[in-house]
Amino acid sequence: MRDVVIIGAGQAGAEAALALRQLRYRGGVTVIGAEDLLPYSRPLLSKDFLIGALPAEKLPLRTAQAYERADITMRLGETVVALSPELKTVTLASGEVLHYAACILAAGASARRILLPGDDLEGIYTLRSRVDADRLRAALGSGVRLVVLGAGYLGLEVAASARKLGSEVTVIEATPRVLGRSASELTARALARRHQREGVDLRLGAAAVGFIGHNGKVRAVGLRGGEEIAADVVVIAVGANPETGLAKAAGIRCDHGILADADARTSAADVYAIGDCALWDTGDGRGALRLESVQMASQGARAAAAAIAGAPRPAVKQPYFWSNQYDLKLQIAGVIPAGQVTEDVLDGDLEGAFAVKRSANGRLLAVEAVNAPRKYIEAQLLIGQSLPQFARGEVGEYSFRATRRDQANR
Ligand SMILES: Cc1cc2nc3c(=O)[nH]c(=O)nc-3n(C[C@H](O)[C@H](O)[C@H](O)COP(=O)(O)OP(=O)(O)OC[C@H]3O[C@@H](n4cnc5c(N)ncnc54)[C@H](O)[C@@H]3O)c2cc1C
Repeated sequence: MRDVVIIGAGQAGAEAALALRQLRYRGGVTVIGAEDLLPYSRPLLSKDFLIGALPAEKLPLRTAQAYERADITMRLGETVVALSPELKTVTLASGEVLHYAACILAAGASARRILLPGDDLEGIYTLRSRVDADRLRAALGSGVRLVVLGAGYLGLEVAASARKLGSEVTVIEATPRVLGRSASELTARALARRHQREGVDLRLGAAAVGFIGHNGKVRAVGLRGGEEIAADVVVIAVGANPETGLAKAAGIRCDHGILADADARTSAADVYAIGDCALWDTGDGRGALRLESVQMASQGARAAAAAIAGAPRPAVKQPYFWSNQYDLKLQIAGVIPAGQVTEDVLDGDLEGAFAVKRSANGRLLAVEAVNAPRKYIEAQLLIGQSLPQFARGEVGEYSFRATRRDQANR
């Protein structure tokens, strides 16, 4: 019996199934997904799909026929409730038990909620799934007062999309700047300015302490200090928690994610973990990372598929992430280890197109580029190399060099 059972029909699960077939794996491949939808592109939910610029038919990653042709069994609208590494079985909510030779955990993450008074009021949303996006899209529109909690990528993308729809937008962020966990101060400053120019009321260093309602529906967000910000709709965008429940119950080692080695193997024999649910040590010396990005999900999928099919381990590329806000196209490659002091050098114009090259001890660690694809491509090829020229600076109009302590990227 060579059956592979994949738990989760998202980006990572779908790509793992297809990668197995590309590697000519001949055993059965079954993908079980709790959502009653073909695997789809989540990044579009906060961007083109939210503003109505993309029809729902364009969201799926592949057609149903593509999985059929690859002889992949998609079991959608079904939830796995238990995993037994000893018996090599997974149990579905219906009670059905499936046996596996290898199991891939690709269960993703779930939107984090905020435990504050009034958080059960109508009109408070999170955005993770297609269903969430449908609901939010129906609630937004011209003149609607939206308050977003959290100025990470998701919060800022929702803010930009809502402005395009004509909503009045306030973003509340507890820390002193946007993208505090995931981008340089320079890039954060450029994006914050742009949001402000687009009319977003950016409240940095502000803490929400509760939601105020009327007739069961949210009408304002209360801030520490007593101010109330009127709201018809609230979006909580304060991060996501990895789905580790099945793994923990099965005795598999977890931290903030399911621990997985360079082949995506977990601590249980023949069980792999990939994508947003995994804390993946890619084996390149950076240690275990859990980066919520399409590229990490794809790379994890290929690593697990190769290990199961007995193929060579694929090379791991630099982590890559992108975000679109208004007409700004942000691309990020590389990762800054937690607590690393970086020197950030600006190349270009913060009000237009630019790249920020982030180095430590003369070695380029990461690049962030906004509307500068060529600078991005050139710089990302040099990540990991010693680059004395960056220390001397290739600075543009908004000349800025900083040495600062930063936290880890996403
Ligand atoms: C709104 C939004 C915008 C984003 N934008 C970007 C972007 O611009 N760029 C980028 O790189 N990344 C972006 N991301 C992140 C990216 O989408 C994720 O990193 C990626 O989808 C992770 O894939 P995954 O397969 O690990 O998880 P998911 O895509 O979340 O898939 C996991 C699936 O598993 C299912 N599942 C969970 N538990 C079970 C169970 N017990 N049984 C059966 N099924 C189960 C879930 O229902 C889900 O469908 C964005 C994410 C969101 C939500």
